[in-house]
Amino acid sequence: MIVTSSGTEHFVFDGHVHLGRARPYQTSNVGVDAYHAEDLIRDMDQAGVDMAVAFPRAEPITDYTSGNGYVLEAARRYPTRIVPYARINPYFADRCLDQIDQYAARGVRGIKLHPFKDFGATAVNSVDFIHPILERAGRHGLVVIIHSGGPWNATPTLIGDLALSFPSVNFILAHAGGELEEDTMVVAKLLPTSNYYVDCAGVHNPKTIGRLVRALGADHVLFGSDRASVPYGFEISKIARYAALDDQTVAGILGGNLLKLLGIEPDVAAYQRVDLAAI
Ligand SMILES: [Zn+2]
Repeated sequence: MIVTSSGTEHFVFDGHVHLGRARPYQTSNVGVDAYHAEDLIRDMDQAGVDMAVAFPRAEPITDYTSGNGYVLEAARRYPTRIVPYARINPYFADRCLDQIDQYAARGVRGIKLHPFKDFGATAVNSVDFIHPILERAGRHGLVVIIHSGGPWNATPTLIGDLALSFPSVNFILAHAGGELEEDTMVVAKLLPTSNYYVDCAGVHNPKTIGRLVRALGADHVLFGSDRASVPYGFEISKIARYAALDDQTVAGILGGNLLKLLGIEPDVAAYQRVDLAAI
């Protein structure tokens, strides 16, 4: 929990962490070869982060059996801190659907798709390629977080099309559409469904967070750090200090909204308090 200068306490739930080993060609933009569960817990403790969603780092030549296994094991060791999602590589088409069944049985709460790194030649709204995966995820009540941004196959519009096609599945646009954040806000206004969420990972201008709140609704904007890439201090402070949001909105973005989305009710008394000014 973080404690603000006025003494308000906020439960902090990070919806976007990459755990495990990185392939050599992936280290340049992350800076570390491996980000283990112990590294994450240490960083969370320092920054007042109570829970974190974790999924594997990019290994697009694999079906993520190894990476997902690592994340599941981390969640088993830290059940009150780490919530597992499975990263799915749609190129392993036949295996994917069975994998989703198995991961759901092992406790994952969502799936992660990365159109840019894992299936760059195919649009994320492909009926033949992606719809079966989403149908299966929906059957298990899993949320679907998708890297969003400028890559042609990961735009807010294509993900909006998925939200229309699968109204009972909740979609989270990682990075809020990135450089296409304006498109995210327009799509959110046009969509008749309420299953279109964003995380703030990498949103660099704190003012954008207030605009996302107005466009999507305060309960559809989520905290996500993209650890190990970005330091917690910036990702939390831009929401809790620099975005000029009221306490209730901050509380929702930092943790309340994702707790509600996943139906998790933590024992908040059991988590440590950290001063916001110290992170
Ligand atoms: Zn990420």
